[in-house]
Amino acid sequence: HRDDAWVLFQASDLRVELTKEPKPKPEVGQLQFGKHFTDHMLTVEWDRERGWGQPHIKPFQHLSLHPASSALHYWAGLGARTPGFSPGPGGCPLSPALPPLPQPFDQLQLLECIRRLVAIDQAWVPHSDNASLYIRPTYIGTEPSLGVSRPGHALLFVILSPVGAYFASGPMGAVGLLAEPRYIRAWLGGVGDCKMGGNYAPTILVQDEAVRAGCQQALWLYGDDHQITEVGTMNIFLFWTDPQGELELVTPPLNGIILPGVTRQSLLDLGRKWGEFKVSERSITMADLLRGLREKRVREVFGSGTACVVSPVSHILYQGKVGRRGDGSAGRAGCVGGNQGVINTHTHSAGPGSSSRG
Ligand code: PMP
Repeated sequence: HRDDAWVLFQASDLRVELTKEPKPKPEVGQLQFGKHFTDHMLTVEWDRERGWGQPHIKPFQHLSLHPASSALHYWAGLGARTPGFSPGPGGCPLSPALPPLPQPFDQLQLLECIRRLVAIDQAWVPHSDNASLYIRPTYIGTEPSLGVSRPGHALLFVILSPVGAYFASGPMGAVGLLAEPRYIRAWLGGVGDCKMGGNYAPTILVQDEAVRAGCQQALWLYGDDHQITEVGTMNIFLFWTDPQGELELVTPPLNGIILPGVTRQSLLDLGRKWGEFKVSERSITMADLLRGLREKRVREVFGSGTACVVSPVSHILYQGKVGRRGDGSAGRAGCVGGNQGVINTHTHSAGPGSSSRG
Protein backbone atom coordinates (compact mmCIF):
# COMPACT_ATOMS: atom_id res chain seq x y z
CA HIS A 1 0.00 0.00 0.00
CA ARG A 2 2.35 2.71 -1.16
CA ASP A 3 -0.48 5.23 -0.91
CA ASP A 4 -0.94 4.67 2.77
CA ALA A 5 0.44 7.61 4.75
CA TRP A 6 1.57 5.21 7.46
CA VAL A 7 3.92 3.25 5.23
CA LEU A 8 7.51 3.89 6.34
CA PHE A 9 10.21 4.49 3.76
CA GLN A 10 12.69 1.71 3.00
CA ALA A 11 16.40 1.98 2.26
CA SER A 12 15.95 -0.65 -0.45
CA ASP A 13 13.88 1.92 -2.40
CA LEU A 14 16.76 4.39 -2.40
CA ARG A 15 17.19 6.30 -5.63
CA VAL A 16 20.76 7.44 -6.25
CA GLU A 17 21.66 10.29 -8.56
CA LEU A 18 25.38 11.09 -8.60
CA THR A 19 26.86 14.53 -9.19
CA LYS A 20 28.48 15.30 -12.51
CA GLU A 21 30.44 18.13 -10.96
CA PRO A 22 32.36 16.93 -7.89
CA LYS A 23 33.66 19.82 -5.80
CA PRO A 24 37.29 20.26 -4.76
CA LYS A 25 37.82 18.97 -1.24
CA PRO A 26 39.15 21.32 1.44
CA GLU A 27 42.52 20.64 3.08
CA VAL A 28 42.04 18.97 6.46
CA GLY A 29 44.03 21.78 8.11
CA GLN A 30 41.63 24.38 6.69
CA LEU A 31 38.41 22.83 7.97
CA GLN A 32 36.15 24.97 10.09
CA PHE A 33 33.02 23.71 11.77
CA GLY A 34 30.02 23.40 9.47
CA LYS A 35 31.34 25.45 6.55
CA HIS A 36 32.05 22.72 4.02
CA PHE A 37 29.61 20.19 2.60
CA THR A 38 30.10 17.01 0.64
CA ASP A 39 28.93 16.35 -2.94
CA HIS A 40 25.64 14.62 -2.07
CA MET A 41 22.66 14.83 0.24
CA LEU A 42 19.73 12.61 1.20
CA THR A 43 16.13 13.77 1.02
CA VAL A 44 12.84 12.04 1.82
CA GLU A 45 9.53 13.85 1.49
CA TRP A 46 6.36 13.11 3.36
CA ASP A 47 2.84 14.33 2.86
CA ARG A 48 -0.46 13.49 4.44
CA GLU A 49 -2.02 12.05 1.29
CA ARG A 50 0.83 10.01 -0.16
CA GLY A 51 2.87 9.17 2.92
CA TRP A 52 6.63 8.85 2.63
CA GLY A 53 8.20 9.28 -0.78
CA GLN A 54 11.22 7.46 -2.12
CA PRO A 55 14.49 8.22 -0.30
CA HIS A 56 16.74 10.07 -2.70
CA ILE A 57 20.49 10.63 -2.70
CA LYS A 58 21.23 13.49 -5.05
CA PRO A 59 23.82 16.17 -5.75
CA PHE A 60 24.12 18.64 -2.85
CA GLN A 61 21.81 21.52 -3.72
CA HIS A 62 19.60 24.29 -2.35
CA LEU A 63 16.18 23.38 -1.05
CA SER A 64 13.19 24.88 -2.76
CA LEU A 65 10.57 25.75 -0.13
CA HIS A 66 7.15 27.34 -0.31
CA PRO A 67 7.47 30.75 1.38
CA ALA A 68 4.70 29.80 3.82
CA SER A 69 6.45 26.56 4.85
CA SER A 70 5.73 25.95 8.51
CA ALA A 71 9.41 25.44 9.33
CA LEU A 72 10.15 29.03 8.28
CA HIS A 73 7.37 30.60 10.35
CA TYR A 74 6.90 28.37 13.33
CA TRP A 75 10.07 26.32 13.45
CA ALA A 76 8.12 23.16 12.89
CA GLY A 77 11.09 20.89 12.47
CA LEU A 78 14.29 19.80 14.07
CA GLY A 79 17.65 18.19 13.82
CA ALA A 80 16.42 14.95 15.26
CA ARG A 81 17.61 12.79 18.12
CA THR A 82 17.29 9.20 19.10
CA PRO A 83 18.82 7.67 22.18
CA GLY A 84 21.04 4.83 21.18
CA PHE A 85 21.63 5.96 17.64
CA SER A 86 25.01 7.35 16.80
CA PRO A 87 26.49 7.14 13.35
CA GLY A 88 29.98 7.45 14.77
CA PRO A 89 32.53 10.15 15.42
CA GLY A 90 31.18 13.54 14.57
CA GLY A 91 27.77 12.10 13.89
CA CYS A 92 24.52 13.59 15.01
CA PRO A 93 22.13 11.41 16.94
CA LEU A 94 18.50 11.20 15.97
CA SER A 95 15.36 11.23 17.95
CA PRO A 96 11.76 10.21 17.82
CA ALA A 97 10.62 12.94 20.18
CA LEU A 98 9.33 15.37 17.59
CA PRO A 99 6.47 17.17 19.17
CA PRO A 100 5.05 18.98 16.14
CA LEU A 101 6.21 16.70 13.38
CA PRO A 102 3.82 14.60 11.53
CA GLN A 103 5.16 11.24 10.71
CA PRO A 104 7.28 8.54 12.26
CA PHE A 105 9.88 6.71 10.26
CA ASP A 106 11.91 3.59 10.82
CA GLN A 107 15.20 4.76 12.27
CA LEU A 108 17.09 1.74 11.00
CA GLN A 109 15.93 2.45 7.45
CA LEU A 110 17.13 6.04 7.81
CA LEU A 111 20.40 4.80 9.26
CA GLU A 112 20.91 2.54 6.25
CA CYS A 113 20.19 5.46 3.87
CA ILE A 114 22.75 7.57 5.77
CA ARG A 115 25.24 4.72 5.54
CA ARG A 116 24.80 4.72 1.76
CA LEU A 117 25.21 8.49 1.61
CA VAL A 118 28.45 8.35 3.64
CA ALA A 119 29.73 5.50 1.44
CA ILE A 120 29.10 7.60 -1.68
CA ASP A 121 30.87 10.61 -0.17
CA GLN A 122 33.56 8.59 1.59
CA ALA A 123 36.37 10.51 -0.10
CA TRP A 124 35.21 13.49 2.01
CA VAL A 125 35.85 11.75 5.32
CA PRO A 126 38.86 13.54 6.81
CA HIS A 127 41.34 10.97 7.97
CA SER A 128 42.80 12.83 10.91
CA ASP A 129 42.57 12.73 14.69
CA ASN A 130 41.53 16.36 14.62
CA ALA A 131 38.74 16.18 12.08
CA SER A 132 35.65 14.14 11.36
CA LEU A 133 32.61 13.89 9.14
CA TYR A 134 29.67 15.54 10.89
CA ILE A 135 26.29 14.10 9.91
CA ARG A 136 23.33 16.45 10.23
CA PRO A 137 19.88 14.92 9.82
CA THR A 138 17.06 17.47 9.84
CA TYR A 139 13.29 17.13 9.72
CA ILE A 140 11.22 20.17 8.80
CA GLY A 141 7.55 20.96 8.34
CA THR A 142 6.92 22.18 4.79
CA GLU A 143 3.17 22.73 5.11
CA PRO A 144 2.47 25.61 2.66
CA SER A 145 0.06 27.39 4.97
CA LEU A 146 0.21 30.05 7.68
CA GLY A 147 -2.07 28.25 10.09
CA VAL A 148 -0.36 27.09 13.27
CA SER A 149 -1.12 23.41 13.04
CA ARG A 150 0.48 20.04 12.60
CA PRO A 151 2.18 20.09 9.18
CA GLY A 152 0.69 17.85 6.50
CA HIS A 153 3.91 18.07 4.48
CA ALA A 154 7.42 17.48 5.74
CA LEU A 155 10.95 17.00 4.49
CA LEU A 156 13.60 14.83 6.07
CA PHE A 157 17.08 15.56 4.78
CA VAL A 158 20.65 14.71 5.70
CA ILE A 159 23.77 16.68 4.85
CA LEU A 160 27.40 15.83 5.61
CA SER A 161 30.07 18.27 6.65
CA PRO A 162 33.77 17.53 7.09
CA VAL A 163 34.70 19.43 10.26
CA GLY A 164 37.94 20.39 11.91
CA ALA A 165 38.76 20.34 15.60
CA TYR A 166 36.29 22.31 17.63
CA PHE A 167 39.11 24.04 19.46
CA ALA A 168 41.87 25.82 17.65
CA SER A 169 44.20 24.80 20.45
CA GLY A 170 43.34 21.10 20.05
CA PRO A 171 40.51 18.98 21.29
CA MET A 172 40.98 19.92 24.93
CA GLY A 173 40.87 23.74 24.86
CA ALA A 174 39.12 25.12 27.93
CA VAL A 175 36.08 27.39 27.95
CA GLY A 176 35.04 30.17 30.29
CA LEU A 177 31.32 30.40 31.14
CA LEU A 178 28.91 33.22 31.83
CA ALA A 179 26.31 32.07 34.39
CA GLU A 180 23.52 34.63 34.16
CA PRO A 181 20.33 33.47 35.89
CA ARG A 182 18.21 36.06 34.05
CA TYR A 183 18.37 33.87 30.93
CA ILE A 184 16.58 30.54 30.80
CA ARG A 185 17.34 27.98 28.07
CA ALA A 186 14.70 25.41 28.93
CA TRP A 187 11.89 24.98 31.44
CA LEU A 188 9.71 22.23 32.84
CA GLY A 189 6.85 21.56 30.45
CA GLY A 190 8.81 23.01 27.52
CA VAL A 191 10.77 21.34 24.73
CA GLY A 192 14.34 22.01 25.90
CA ASP A 193 14.92 18.28 26.02
CA CYS A 194 14.29 17.98 22.25
CA LYS A 195 16.63 19.04 19.51
CA MET A 196 14.37 21.63 17.94
CA GLY A 197 15.52 24.62 15.91
CA GLY A 198 13.46 26.99 18.05
CA ASN A 199 15.53 26.15 21.12
CA TYR A 200 18.71 27.55 19.64
CA ALA A 201 18.00 30.94 18.06
CA PRO A 202 17.18 32.61 21.40
CA THR A 203 20.52 31.49 22.86
CA ILE A 204 22.59 33.43 20.34
CA LEU A 205 22.15 36.80 22.07
CA VAL A 206 23.16 35.23 25.37
CA GLN A 207 26.17 33.71 23.67
CA ASP A 208 27.11 37.19 22.41
CA GLU A 209 26.81 38.55 25.92
CA ALA A 210 29.05 35.75 27.20
CA VAL A 211 31.69 36.70 24.63
CA ARG A 212 31.42 40.38 25.56
CA ALA A 213 31.98 39.34 29.18
CA GLY A 214 35.20 37.55 28.19
CA CYS A 215 33.71 34.04 28.26
CA GLN A 216 33.08 31.54 25.45
CA GLN A 217 29.79 29.94 26.44
CA ALA A 218 26.70 30.40 28.59
CA LEU A 219 26.22 28.27 31.68
CA TRP A 220 22.46 27.73 31.78
CA LEU A 221 20.96 27.97 35.26
CA TYR A 222 17.43 27.07 36.26
CA GLY A 223 15.15 27.85 39.18
CA ASP A 224 15.50 30.09 42.22
CA ASP A 225 18.23 27.82 43.52
CA HIS A 226 20.28 28.31 40.31
CA GLN A 227 20.52 24.68 39.30
CA ILE A 228 23.31 24.03 36.82
CA THR A 229 21.74 22.51 33.69
CA GLU A 230 23.85 22.72 30.51
CA VAL A 231 26.71 24.70 29.02
CA GLY A 232 26.27 26.30 25.58
CA THR A 233 25.02 23.35 23.55
CA MET A 234 26.68 20.77 25.73
CA ASN A 235 25.68 18.72 28.75
CA ILE A 236 27.66 19.48 31.88
CA PHE A 237 29.60 17.25 34.26
CA LEU A 238 31.23 17.86 37.62
CA PHE A 239 33.97 15.55 38.89
CA TRP A 240 34.54 16.17 42.56
CA THR A 241 34.57 14.85 46.06
CA ASP A 242 30.96 15.07 47.18
CA PRO A 243 30.00 16.65 50.53
CA GLN A 244 30.10 13.19 52.13
CA GLY A 245 33.72 12.73 51.02
CA GLU A 246 33.08 10.34 48.14
CA LEU A 247 34.63 10.80 44.69
CA GLU A 248 31.77 11.42 42.26
CA LEU A 249 31.07 12.16 38.61
CA VAL A 250 27.76 13.98 38.51
CA THR A 251 25.54 15.42 35.79
CA PRO A 252 21.99 16.79 35.99
CA PRO A 253 19.18 14.24 35.56
CA LEU A 254 16.96 13.98 32.48
CA ASN A 255 14.09 15.78 34.17
CA GLY A 256 12.68 17.56 31.11
CA ILE A 257 15.07 20.51 30.84
CA ILE A 258 18.18 18.60 29.82
CA LEU A 259 18.95 17.44 26.30
CA PRO A 260 19.67 13.69 26.52
CA GLY A 261 23.03 13.91 24.75
CA VAL A 262 24.60 10.75 23.40
CA THR A 263 28.03 11.91 24.65
CA ARG A 264 26.53 12.41 28.13
CA GLN A 265 25.18 8.86 28.06
CA SER A 266 28.50 7.49 26.80
CA LEU A 267 30.40 9.19 29.64
CA LEU A 268 27.94 7.88 32.24
CA ASP A 269 28.24 4.37 30.78
CA LEU A 270 32.04 4.52 30.75
CA GLY A 271 32.24 5.89 34.29
CA ARG A 272 29.90 3.15 35.55
CA LYS A 273 31.86 0.49 33.70
CA TRP A 274 35.17 1.66 35.18
CA GLY A 275 33.68 1.57 38.68
CA GLU A 276 36.42 3.85 40.03
CA PHE A 277 34.09 6.51 41.43
CA LYS A 278 30.42 7.07 42.08
CA VAL A 279 28.44 8.13 39.00
CA SER A 280 25.28 10.16 39.66
CA GLU A 281 22.50 11.86 37.75
CA ARG A 282 21.15 14.45 40.13
CA SER A 283 20.74 18.16 40.26
CA ILE A 284 23.61 20.43 41.33
CA THR A 285 23.18 24.08 42.28
CA MET A 286 25.62 26.96 42.04
CA ALA A 287 25.69 26.96 45.85
CA ASP A 288 26.83 23.30 45.84
CA LEU A 289 29.55 24.10 43.33
CA LEU A 290 30.73 27.22 45.16
CA ARG A 291 30.91 25.29 48.39
CA GLY A 292 32.87 22.55 46.63
CA LEU A 293 35.30 25.14 45.31
CA ARG A 294 35.66 26.78 48.69
CA GLU A 295 36.42 23.43 50.24
CA LYS A 296 38.76 22.52 47.35
CA ARG A 297 36.76 19.43 46.47
CA VAL A 298 36.26 20.22 42.76
CA ARG A 299 38.57 18.39 40.35
CA GLU A 300 37.02 19.05 36.94
CA VAL A 301 34.04 20.70 35.36
CA PHE A 302 33.43 19.94 31.69
CA GLY A 303 30.88 20.06 28.90
CA SER A 304 30.11 17.10 26.63
CA GLY A 305 28.73 17.00 23.09
CA THR A 306 29.20 15.34 19.73
CA ALA A 307 31.10 18.20 18.12
CA CYS A 308 33.56 19.04 20.87
CA VAL A 309 33.47 15.72 22.72
CA VAL A 310 34.73 16.84 26.13
CA SER A 311 35.41 20.48 26.81
CA PRO A 312 36.98 21.51 30.12
CA VAL A 313 35.66 24.61 31.88
CA SER A 314 38.36 27.08 32.86
CA HIS A 315 36.28 29.57 34.83
CA ILE A 316 32.77 30.78 35.55
CA LEU A 317 31.57 34.37 35.74
CA TYR A 318 28.66 34.43 38.19
CA GLN A 319 27.00 37.37 39.89
CA GLY A 320 29.70 39.73 38.72
CA LYS A 321 32.56 37.67 40.06
CA VAL A 322 34.99 35.55 38.14
CA GLY A 323 37.52 33.13 39.33
CA ARG A 324 38.88 29.71 38.97
CA ARG A 325 40.10 26.73 40.83
CA GLY A 326 43.83 26.07 40.81
CA ASP A 327 46.26 28.76 39.74
CA GLY A 328 43.88 31.69 40.27
CA SER A 329 45.30 33.52 37.27
CA ALA A 330 41.98 34.60 35.86
CA GLY A 331 43.51 37.80 34.59
CA ARG A 332 40.37 39.89 35.02
CA ALA A 333 39.35 42.64 37.32
CA GLY A 334 37.03 41.13 39.86
CA CYS A 335 38.80 37.84 39.79
CA VAL A 336 38.38 36.09 43.05
CA GLY A 337 39.77 32.87 44.29
CA GLY A 338 38.24 30.38 46.61
CA ASN A 339 34.86 31.38 47.84
CA GLN A 340 33.19 32.92 44.81
CA GLY A 341 32.01 31.55 41.50
CA VAL A 342 35.26 30.23 40.23
CA ILE A 343 36.29 27.12 38.45
CA ASN A 344 39.38 26.06 36.69
CA THR A 345 39.99 22.67 35.30
CA HIS A 346 42.49 23.44 32.64
CA THR A 347 45.08 26.12 32.25
CA HIS A 348 45.79 26.26 28.56
CA SER A 349 44.14 28.83 26.41
CA ALA A 350 40.58 28.67 25.22
CA GLY A 351 40.29 28.39 21.51
CA PRO A 352 37.10 28.60 19.61
CA GLY A 353 35.75 32.09 19.94
CA SER A 354 32.07 32.52 20.03
CA SER A 355 30.19 29.88 18.15
CA SER A 356 28.42 27.31 20.17
CA ARG A 357 28.03 23.73 19.15
CA GLY A 358 27.43 20.57 21.04
N1 PMP B 1 22.80 19.97 24.95
C1 PMP B 1 22.29 20.65 23.90
C2 PMP B 1 21.35 21.78 24.14
C3 PMP B 1 22.67 20.27 22.58
O1 PMP B 1 22.18 20.93 21.53
C4 PMP B 1 23.56 19.20 22.40
C5 PMP B 1 23.96 18.75 21.02
N2 PMP B 1 24.27 19.76 20.15
C6 PMP B 1 24.06 18.54 23.52
C7 PMP B 1 23.65 18.94 24.79
C8 PMP B 1 25.04 17.41 23.40
O2 PMP B 1 24.40 16.31 22.82
P1 PMP B 1 25.21 15.19 22.04
O3 PMP B 1 26.18 14.61 23.01
O4 PMP B 1 24.16 14.20 21.65
O5 PMP B 1 25.87 15.87 20.89
